[in-house]
This record gives sequence, structure tokens and C-alpha cells, in this order.
Amino acid sequence: MRGRRQYRVTLIPGDGVGPEVIGAATEVVAAAGVAITWDRQIAGAAAVEAGGDPLPDELIRSIRRNRVALKGPLATRVGRAGFRSVNVALRKTFDLYANLRPIRNLPGIKSAFEGVDLVVVRENTEDLYSGIEHQIAPGVVESVKVITAKASRRIAAFAFDYAVRHKRHKVTAIHKANIMKLSDGLFLSCAQRMGKRYPKIQYQEMIVDNACMQLVLRPGQFDVLLLENLYGDIVSDLCAGLVGGLGVVPGANLGSRYAIFEAVHGTAPDIAGKNIANPTAAILSAVLMLHHLGEDAAATRIRTAVETAVAKGGCLTRDLGGKSSTTQLTRAIMAELRRS
Ligand code: NAD
Repeated sequence: MRGRRQYRVTLIPGDGVGPEVIGAATEVVAAAGVAITWDRQIAGAAAVEAGGDPLPDELIRSIRRNRVALKGPLATRVGRAGFRSVNVALRKTFDLYANLRPIRNLPGIKSAFEGVDLVVVRENTEDLYSGIEHQIAPGVVESVKVITAKASRRIAAFAFDYAVRHKRHKVTAIHKANIMKLSDGLFLSCAQRMGKRYPKIQYQEMIVDNACMQLVLRPGQFDVLLLENLYGDIVSDLCAGLVGGLGVVPGANLGSRYAIFEAVHGTAPDIAGKNIANPTAAILSAVLMLHHLGEDAAATRIRTAVETAVAKGGCLTRDLGGKSSTTQLTRAIMAELRRS
């Protein structure tokens, strides 16, 4: 009999609710029988406290070695205070150019819509996240929006390739090229050109403000959404709101060599340390990671266990209208896993 594959994956528990939900995800992965040695690393505020560097070399080396990481959210202070976003730095360091966020209803979770099944593909390395900001005179500042043909082409190619591989039928490029004629205009022309190479995939364009309204009116018209970094960030949270909130939406940051899996949500400081955060988004991020590792059977078993546990109700966390704790929902999912 063939032995089980043994994986080594970098684990960043993160700040706020991070350790609670990432702890749940690693327990569920172990219960599914996937043998992973977690290479535990700190980043952000915890790393500053420990050694002064929010992005320690040890963490960088760990991800270089393992190529795959599961990550909790990291806090970034608002405004001038504190260090630059470690999330952005990680995505740039490992050239994780594609941020993938599947948005799907979970059975039994009350939300404004049923049957939502779309995928946000967000460019992850440039745009207003370039970090280039300066004061040009007192009271006048500039933040530079960087859009390149290279990054726009490769994220468009990613979106169309994803559509083909996952039997999706339409890519909608979302933009504001009526106002940002050069930057969004370049992004759009790259998407258009890429679209011509994929004649079987329908290609559509929509201005971002209209897209937001269309999403909350008729989300069923969308399939794969292709966005620059900032619009992708905002529209992801909007889309999470369509299917029950941030507690249920997973994500993946993907490059050609490395991959970091993390939920869409942040550190949720308002509920941190109370054992009430919803672990579903982190667990489903681990499911994306297992697919990436080629552990499709385990990934599908976990996804089914999440869906069954949540559909039965009785174990829902507060964000989903229940009264259960992080631990109780995690146990319910593990019980379903054992039954499968
Ligand atoms: P947030 O996602 O942390 O929280 C927004 C709302 O959603 C809050 O009401 C919170 O309680 C709720 N929520 C989030 N996750 C939940 C969960 N698992 N279960 C139940 N409810 C949940 O967004 P924010 O408050 O704008 O940001 C807080 C911090 O997180 C900031 O420092 C921000 O920079 C950081 N952040 C980090 C990441 C990341 O590491 N990838 C992503 C987003 C925000």
C-alpha cells in the first residue's frame, strides 16, 4: 500500500481572531487524515514584539522552503502610525499576483440571495497598493496608482484560464476607465486582448459603481469577476455580504511558485479572544490549500462536512444567526468528517 504523503506547510496564526480560526482549520485538516507538519511562524504585531521586524527573515525562509502557507489575518494600523501592511509585503515578496475568492452560498445559511456562485479574481501586486505616497506641499498628498501591462495581462490570463479549468462561462472585467483613462484603460485593453484568445468564454465589461449595484440586485448574472487590486478588495467584501458575511468566504494568494491561503476577513478585533469567531472561512481556505496540494478527496470531504454541519444548524456562530462558539462549530464539522 502506498504511504500517505507528508507535507510541510508554513503556518501563520496571525492576530486577533487568527489563532482561533487557524487552530480550527489545522484540527479539521488533521481530522481529514492529511499529514501536514506545520512550520509555525509569526508576523506583524507579534513579530514586532518578539524581534522588531514585522516580516522576519525566518518567515520568508520558511515560505521559500515550503512554498505553501496557511495564514491568519494580520493587523495593519490605519494612517501614518505603525509599519506598512505585512499582507501587501508578503504578496509582493512572493509575487502572489492572483487573489482568488470563491463566493458561494452555504446551504442553510440565511442570506439575501440563494444560488450565488461567483469567483473574484483580484490583481494582487500593484494599483494603489504600490505604497508610493508623498506629500507634494503642505495639505497636498499623492498616492500613486501603478498599472502595468505585464501585471494586467497575467491576471487576465489567470482569470480566463481559471474559467476554462473550472468550467465557468463568463469573465466580467470591472473598471473605472471612463475616469482613469490611462490606468484602468490599460487594464481593460489587456483584458480585452486576452479575451480574444478564449473565444469559448464570454467576455463582458462593467464600470465598478454599476457592478456594485448589479451585484446586490442580481448576483446570478456574474460568474468570474476580474478586478484590479483596490476594486477587488472592496468588491470581495461586498460579495461576502451576499452569502452570509466574512465568516464564510475563503481566499488564496497565488503566484507561479508560491501560494498563501487565507480567509478574506481581517483580525475582527471586536470579537477576538472570545471563542465566537466563525472558523468556516479559515477552514474553507484550508480546503483551497488541499486542492492546491493535490489532496482533492480530503478537500471535498471537508467541504461536504462544513456544508452538512452548517445545514443541520444547531452549531452556528453568532454571525450566522446562531449562539455556538468557534469550538462548537469546529467540533460539529469534525463530527461530520468522522461520519463521512
Ligand atoms: P474585519 O474583517 O476584521 O472585520 C469586519 C467585520 O466582520 C467585523 O464586524 C468582524 O467582527 C466581522 N468578522 C470578520 N471575521 C469574522 C469571523 N471569522 N467570524 C465572525 N465575524 C467576523 O475587518 P476590519 O475590522 O476592517 O479590519 C480589522 C483589521 O484586520 C485591520 O487591522 C485590517 O488591516 C486587518 N485586515 C487584515 C486582512 C488580512 O490579513 N488579510 C484582511 C482584512 C483586514
